[in-house]
Amino acid sequence: MKKVLLLRFGELYLKGKNRNIFERKLCDNIRKSLQDEQFKFENTFGRYIISGYDEERENVIIDKLKKVFGLHSLSQAVELDASEEVITREIAKINIEPKTFRVNVKRADKNFPVSSMPFAARLGEVILQNNKCQVDLYNPQVEINVDIRMNKKAYIYYNRIDCQGGLPLGTAGRALLLLSGGIDSPVAGYLMAKRGLEVDALHFHSYPYTNEQAKDKVVELARRLTGYVGKIRLHVVSFTRIQEEIHKNCVPEYMITIMRRIMMRIAERICVRDNLGAIVTGESLGQVASQTMQSMQVTGSVVENTPVFRPCIAMDKQDIMDIAQKIDTYETSILPYEDCCTVFLPKYPVIKPTIEKAKREESHLDIEGFIEKAIEAEEVIEL
Ligand code: ATP
Ligand code: MG
Repeated sequence: MKKVLLLRFGELYLKGKNRNIFERKLCDNIRKSLQDEQFKFENTFGRYIISGYDEERENVIIDKLKKVFGLHSLSQAVELDASEEVITREIAKINIEPKTFRVNVKRADKNFPVSSMPFAARLGEVILQNNKCQVDLYNPQVEINVDIRMNKKAYIYYNRIDCQGGLPLGTAGRALLLLSGGIDSPVAGYLMAKRGLEVDALHFHSYPYTNEQAKDKVVELARRLTGYVGKIRLHVVSFTRIQEEIHKNCVPEYMITIMRRIMMRIAERICVRDNLGAIVTGESLGQVASQTMQSMQVTGSVVENTPVFRPCIAMDKQDIMDIAQKIDTYETSILPYEDCCTVFLPKYPVIKPTIEKAKREESHLDIEGFIEKAIEAEEVIEL
């Protein structure tokens, strides 16, 4: 008998011919997430088995696996030879009084001599003989699962720990996340990574209007995201001069609209240069003036050939905050350092901007010059 972790994957089943690519990536990602641990990895027809680890590290290993996208759930199990006698002997040791229970037998190996239902009933009887407990098929307090696999092994387990789900990181390519210091954009990065997308990040700062701590905060947010997203290249670009020029030359209510349009242009430029396939933002419909449908049309329209993903678009703030808590970015996001967007903030930003007016305001600016200078001076931080 040995202790193992039994891992299940989810949506990969849907992937038809590409399934091998997805599986290989998932196996790589599992191994990578456990690279500092000692373990054995086995891939056995629809389940992955982790064994050979130090039992004291089990919880740490589980926490790491819980961050691997593409894994659906895992169970702490014991592995036995798949024989009736060995399984029955193991089940006879179970002590579950005074609870209700049911036994579930799954037989992936159809050569196993007894079929699932009669075997489950027989194992149930063994438990009843040895314990003061009752069978409850519909709402049991304990479920005893016996999983008989193709590798001639059986796995007995009682629990099922939810993992992330989603698709293996790296199967959807790489994108550029617009990362502010707020709550929403780290969540947006996490949500896209959950669909298999790796991300680099782009942050605009307004030093010296904003301080070093505001930048440190963003570096820390990106660092926290790496637990899920893997390596992140963080581009830090100064927005100070651009903001000053917009402030000087444009009507205040269009300030944020023009800023966003320039941010989007710079983002697309970096995407093209670095071969990144999409821009990701943390926008949520109606959350603030710059996130109305019209605002997103006016800011999105400057992006020519790159899709813009806004995974938080339909989410309530509370739902976004719940995810931020779960992925451990919330506490950093709420640190009170100023974001570049709050510098020179107009009292009444336009809620329904138009492309024509935005273009008119921009005609007072050397947009191309701003973009080139900003990108020239970018700082790159590898995380
Ligand atoms: P967040 O919580 O992500 O900051 P928010 O509710 O504060 O979002 P906005 O400030 O309107 O919303 O920003 C909308 C989106 O624009 C952000 O989610 C982010 O993707 C991008 N963004 C805003 N400010 C910056 C910045 N300084 N650097 C990079 N991206 C930014
Ligand atoms: Mg913000």
